[in-house]
Amino acid sequence: MTTCPVCGKRGIGKVGAGQYYCWDCCVEFVVRDQDLKIFNVEADGTLTLYNDTAQSTVNLEVQKG
Ligand SMILES: [Zn+2]
Repeated sequence: MTTCPVCGKRGIGKVGAGQYYCWDCCVEFVVRDQDLKIFNVEADGTLTLYNDTAQSTVNLEVQKG
C-alpha cells in the first residue's frame, strides 16, 4: 500500500511493521493481511479508532478493490 486509505494521497510514512502514518490527514493505519485498521492520533499521542464517518468505510472498500 502506497496511498492513504482516508485521503488517497501518498504523503505517508512507515512507522512500524505494517504501520503507517499519513501526514495529510494525521491518521495512523495498520495493515495486516487483508485487515486494515485506521486510527486518529490525538493531541496527546494516543490512538483512537477512526470510524466516525460512513464515508471512510466506502473509501476503504474501494482501496481493497
Ligand atoms: Zn491521509
